[in-house]
Amino acid sequence: MRVFALNCGSSSVKGVLIDTGSRERLLEMRIEELGTEDGRLVAGADVAQLGRIDTQAAVKRLFAELRSHAGSGDIEAVAHRIVHGGPDFVRPTELDEASLAGIEKFNVLAPLHNPFALEAARYAMQEMPQVPHVAIFDTAFHATLPPRAHTYALPPELARRHGIRRYGFHGISHAQVTRSIAHHLEVEPQTLRIISCHLGNGASVAAVEYGRSVETSMGMTPLEGLVMGTRCGDIDPGVLVYLLEHGGCDGAALNRLLNRDSGLKGFAGTNDLRDIEQRAQQGDEACRLAIGVYAHRVRKYIGAYAAAMGGVDVIVFTGGIGENSAPMRHRIVQRFDFLGARIDEDRNRDARVSTAQPIAEIGEPGMRTRLFVVSANEELEMAEQTEALLHTATAQHAKIPVEVSARHAHLSQATIEKLFGPGYRLRERAGLSQHGQFSAQEVVTLIGPRGRIDNVRLMGPARAQDQVEISRSDEFALGIDAPVRTSGDLRNTPGIVIQGPAGRVTLTNGVICARRHIHMNSTDAARLGVRDHQSVRVRIDSDGRDLVFGDVVVRVDPTFSLALHLDTDEANAAGVQRGDMAELLP
Ligand code: ADP
Repeated sequence: MRVFALNCGSSSVKGVLIDTGSRERLLEMRIEELGTEDGRLVAGADVAQLGRIDTQAAVKRLFAELRSHAGSGDIEAVAHRIVHGGPDFVRPTELDEASLAGIEKFNVLAPLHNPFALEAARYAMQEMPQVPHVAIFDTAFHATLPPRAHTYALPPELARRHGIRRYGFHGISHAQVTRSIAHHLEVEPQTLRIISCHLGNGASVAAVEYGRSVETSMGMTPLEGLVMGTRCGDIDPGVLVYLLEHGGCDGAALNRLLNRDSGLKGFAGTNDLRDIEQRAQQGDEACRLAIGVYAHRVRKYIGAYAAAMGGVDVIVFTGGIGENSAPMRHRIVQRFDFLGARIDEDRNRDARVSTAQPIAEIGEPGMRTRLFVVSANEELEMAEQTEALLHTATAQHAKIPVEVSARHAHLSQATIEKLFGPGYRLRERAGLSQHGQFSAQEVVTLIGPRGRIDNVRLMGPARAQDQVEISRSDEFALGIDAPVRTSGDLRNTPGIVIQGPAGRVTLTNGVICARRHIHMNSTDAARLGVRDHQSVRVRIDSDGRDLVFGDVVVRVDPTFSLALHLDTDEANAAGVQRGDMAELLP
């Protein structure tokens, strides 16, 4: 699909034409210095001076360029980056008068960003009314933050009245980083704990635990957290009160100070790290301090987020500074041996990323935690999210058979023999819908610290590793905390005792609560407009217990038959009966 991704800020509008099939950027252009005498159009190495130009004229000009280069017939959708979706807009949303009005309500939360983007979206909709326009929100990726991470310690009534909470930003970038790294490592995002550092002019860190953002450094506004180009990031709120009461600042002056005159610019008079690094090398103390404070803040967040997730598998750098400044990356990750990460100086110095070569590894080989640089490509993420929304909308009402998995175990041949005797082979009781899989005649007993469960069915054939799948209710009965995991992802999972007729085995790990998922082959995936690892929502329409399930992971494999797999708790909550179908939601 060809999607024109539009990214509008207060002083520039960027347009990139993306082909989602080839993941190529077919056309890329930017109008800078809106509202000043220096307005200009930049396309690759070409720069055209435009003089004073406002948002409307800039959008018109970009579409004119687009038509002359690509012809408008080819373009199937326009994606708009919207910084703040508030608590209501947590997924890609097709724009019309009603949704635009709904988003406008949150302009007050992002006064420097949202009004310009929405104004640009309205002009773009006039320029190209024949295609869908889709809003992609920077806050949306962080909608999964748990209450302990998104709540400020203020009186709850006050916070509720004013919508004061951590929303988080740069979500499009953190989502893209997550997806790219998982793709590069050939694993599902649900298997990784990632700390994603987006270090551009604006900067934020996100803790992405098994595919979900669980912490991020920007807060209710994009001011909290890291030191940025012109923003101060974290500061004792008492300083603000002090400046208001004794520093001769009113609200507007404070806003200007914190957003425009602080951060790197506050230290060094410029927000360009290249200049600051050069001057620091020549001995400029203010620049040295700027670099020291900047790196220290990022380090502090990485340490904190590793603690919040109980560990980290991958640390990633992106954005202008994250991608280009090897010295800054070095300062940030030095002495991270305690986290299992060590930077490889040669790899770090030589790392070059681009849209053609988007990932470079900079950690020493063999370390537990891997270090990467990823080229920021927010427009590709916007285009892919747009395509997914439009395809899912087309496939809306597609029906998927529901299958309910009772508690069961997949065991290795060695474990089977310990439980049932030497040379024992599982005997098939009934075939399952997934090719070659069967439920066995054999059952075992699970013994946990609190209780035991008899008659737990084994599945065949034997697997390489032991895996026991139980429901949340079973966890209470057994006294075990099993994490929600995709089948096969058994790192850091608890163990259990299994009793069979010929013996008893103590597993040291392998107990999970299965992540709900849909099996399908690639033909189904194309028909339904979804891709492997995508997280989707499904609706179950049952007698009096209708339920929508989110966080359902798509798993594509040539051998899979189309089926939604729920565990017994989930199925009971939705009143699922044999033969029920689920409906894929946009
Ligand atoms: P934005 O958030 O506006 O998209 P960018 O992601 O382009 O910003 O990041 C801009 C920052 O990246 C600036 O501080 C710039 O100095 C820095 N930067 C770009 N290239 C380099 C480089 N080679 N070395 C150090 N810093 C760089």
